[in-house]
Amino acid sequence: MPMPNLTVLRTYALKPNPTDLPSSVLFCHTETSLTIFDAYPKAMFHFLVLPRVIPPTTTSELMSLRSLLAVEKERAWGIVEMLGKDAEQVRGMVEDEMVKRYGFKWDIWIGFHSVPSMEHLHLHVISSDLISPALKNKKHYNSFHPKLGFFLHLKDVLSWFDSDPSYFDMMSGLKKDQYEPLLKEDLVCWECDKAFKNIPALKTHLQGIWDERVRREKNRLEKKRKRDHEDEEAAATQTSLPSNKRVDTGDAS
Ligand SMILES: [Zn+2]
Ligand SMILES: [Zn+2]
Repeated sequence: MPMPNLTVLRTYALKPNPTDLPSSVLFCHTETSLTIFDAYPKAMFHFLVLPRVIPPTTTSELMSLRSLLAVEKERAWGIVEMLGKDAEQVRGMVEDEMVKRYGFKWDIWIGFHSVPSMEHLHLHVISSDLISPALKNKKHYNSFHPKLGFFLHLKDVLSWFDSDPSYFDMMSGLKKDQYEPLLKEDLVCWECDKAFKNIPALKTHLQGIWDERVRREKNRLEKKRKRDHEDEEAAATQTSLPSNKRVDTGDAS
């Protein structure tokens, strides 16, 4: 596998014409953002929404969430909000794809890593299954655990802008030494809080949750099909009733 290039996201974000990117990289784009497939997806669906570099905003301001939150609040808010809107579009597309592929949809998380591993701001859009061969270690898992605190949900980041300035200043510092230790926390299932000794055990558990969900959804769909079929039959019987009645009445008279 190629070594992940620390600055590749910036290269993408600077493309005047995102459609020049290979279709294995680019998922979609707008005037202000582009969405790419995460090269090392940590779930069945995992995308990154990147802001394109549009003056007056500079590449250095867009280096990370931390650098962006240091620019004028109004402008920073505009960019975070724009990313969120574009990420919601992506969520919709992912949900459609989920239904197409599996017949049901499940939660999708949208958020930033408090301490990013690559340069250039990127908003993660990731499905909550966390099932992927590329999810290999505790750090990978904990960086997406939705309640641990390393993963910053977009709506929480947006709420910082509305809170009082001292809170905004505290949160926007995004201090490494405050967040990085979270990656070393014990492995805990985000859904049922069960603790695990190692990644293989946790992955087996997550796979089990998934298999169970697939089984349940299959049952649900089958029941629905049956019900629809019965409804159809009932409807068919009802429409044929009047003519039967007429025949009956005829016999009686
Ligand atoms: Zn990241
Ligand atoms: Zn669990």
